[in-house]
Amino acid sequence: MEAPPPNAESVRTTHIVLRIPRVLLLGEYDRVPRREIRFSRRNVYLRDANTCQYCGRPFRDEELNLDHVVPRDIGGKTNWENIVTACVRCNSRKANRLPEQAGMTLRHAPTKPKWRLVVASSLSVDEVECWKEFLEVTPAGQLPWRN
Ligand SMILES: [Zn+2]
Repeated sequence: MEAPPPNAESVRTTHIVLRIPRVLLLGEYDRVPRREIRFSRRNVYLRDANTCQYCGRPFRDEELNLDHVVPRDIGGKTNWENIVTACVRCNSRKANRLPEQAGMTLRHAPTKPKWRLVVASSLSVDEVECWKEFLEVTPAGQLPWRN
């Protein structure tokens, strides 16, 4: 039998070519594993859709910083609830102050994201056409926790 040409959806071994399934259905399970999203620079940018949480404009990674909403000096923590994406300009304008002291307003209160949403937002919508019903992805690439 002639093997089909290899592509992104197949794996070739020495003898055979296997098609990679697009969807696996879990028929039975003991418990759903708990997923924790790793707190990282990249994931904060992803949660905030690479958008400065003060001016609301989108930026490339290298034009962004992480901002402590409540500055560390006065007890602000480094966690999902106190870190937001800020552009370099807004970040230096805010400096070591609370947003209200700097006359700035947060677009969204920072929260810990749900892991499914981060997975969904890191995939292109075309790529996951057949996964749509399993992932919370909207056609415009909007993240569902942002309304
Ligand atoms: Zn900004």
